[in-house]
Amino acid sequence: MTNENCLDGLRCPRCGNEDRLYIVTTVLADVTDNGADVARGSEWQWDDASMTRCPDCDRDGPLNEFRTPPQLPPDPEGMNFDRAAWADKAIAAFRRETGTDREDALPDLLCDLMHWSDRAGYRFDAALNRARDHYAAETAAEAA
Ligand SMILES: [Zn+2]
Repeated sequence: MTNENCLDGLRCPRCGNEDRLYIVTTVLADVTDNGADVARGSEWQWDDASMTRCPDCDRDGPLNEFRTPPQLPPDPEGMNFDRAAWADKAIAAFRRETGTDREDALPDLLCDLMHWSDRAGYRFDAALNRARDHYAAETAAEAA
């Protein structure tokens, strides 16, 4: 399904759900002692900073993280969304453990992997070059 209205350009970055999202909104409320309703003429309002949650996988974050990337590289094996989802789980686990924010999570994790490599006897640069080779193959215009 391609959304063309409220969810145009939005989908869960973890599981790909694009049918329904929970978005924290603001709305003018008509409140009395008996309860609250949406005030006449008021509209739901949200923006890229509005907290958003996927009801299918519970991924949450600001709405801008749910925007569909404008263009992704080729995916000859049809696996790159899954690969990104696996990495998302690693980032989420790292963030839970360290409390780092989403913006800093990737460079902080890479830095800590450098420290880990020093202690585990791995050459980080060699591993990074190998990862770049894998990425190039996994985003080549045609399957190798
Ligand atoms: Zn999801």
